[in-house]
Amino acid sequence: MKIAETVTFGGSGLDRAAQLRGDATLMQKHLTTGDILPLWRGKVLVQGEARENLARLPQGHPALKDSTGEYIFLGLDDGQAVFACDISSWEPPDQDLELVGQFFDPSEQIHPELAQGVVFAELRSVMAQLSPRDAELVATAKALFNWHDSHGFCAKCGGKSAMTMAGWQRNCTLCDSSHFPRTDPVVIMLITHGNQLLLGRSPGWPEGMYSTLAGFVEPGETLEAAVRREVFEESGIEVGAVTYLASQPWAFPSSLMFGCHGEALNTDITIDPVEIEDAFWISREDLMQVMAGEHPKIRAARRGSIAQFLMTNWLADRLN
Ligand SMILES: [Zn+2]
Repeated sequence: MKIAETVTFGGSGLDRAAQLRGDATLMQKHLTTGDILPLWRGKVLVQGEARENLARLPQGHPALKDSTGEYIFLGLDDGQAVFACDISSWEPPDQDLELVGQFFDPSEQIHPELAQGVVFAELRSVMAQLSPRDAELVATAKALFNWHDSHGFCAKCGGKSAMTMAGWQRNCTLCDSSHFPRTDPVVIMLITHGNQLLLGRSPGWPEGMYSTLAGFVEPGETLEAAVRREVFEESGIEVGAVTYLASQPWAFPSSLMFGCHGEALNTDITIDPVEIEDAFWISREDLMQVMAGEHPKIRAARRGSIAQFLMTNWLADRLN
């Protein structure tokens, strides 16, 4: 797909400067002059009327006083070092935190040490308006902190592990084994039959939400085989030819989505009710109505998701 990298989180050519990560002295020096992106309970610090820019803070800023003290080096942005830190222990005063951590969290948190209009927001709600550079920086930071949060102990011996290599590695304090950040491959597929596209929904999704089918790639499996297996398991549809289209890092918590196109060999749907609640074929005409937000029953796909990107480009005949 020629325009694959225009998807949200499709990359910005960030210089990750991996060769610098092992130089602790240099990292400390960069930290004093670099930009810091704070994350709070998985939410990102943004500013601007449409929340279209990441807010970057200097080291020593009072809003960073709740930082864990561990800084992840994300790379050099036009020569400027950029780090991320976690300030999740900060307790926002007088704010309703009921929505924080929910699937859809439209709430914003205002830190008293920050200027007006600078807020913590859920990445899903702002991802489509961020610049490619900001999107790459924050997707990287979020995925790494998700990994650190769930990998405090060594998978080999159970000993405590500690962050090293400027956040890109953990070493076990008992057996000294090294552990590296995980990325989990997921296939997400446009399954078409002539002029029709297969859509489905998982149990528990918000009402009216449908998407293309998706599922984790299993060990020992190719992307093509994962597409055919997942679609058959969930819908009873057999898939013939499969082509790869585009990929999207998806830091919820640490996936890499592989967008594919598969041609259905049959049209009779038999759903697996454990995995999905409903599936059906939608015509191009009806999908256009959905994408325009004008369908009476089905919600438009979220802007910024690869599902929305693939469906939009299928409708526009731009999959090649
Ligand atoms: Zn160990």
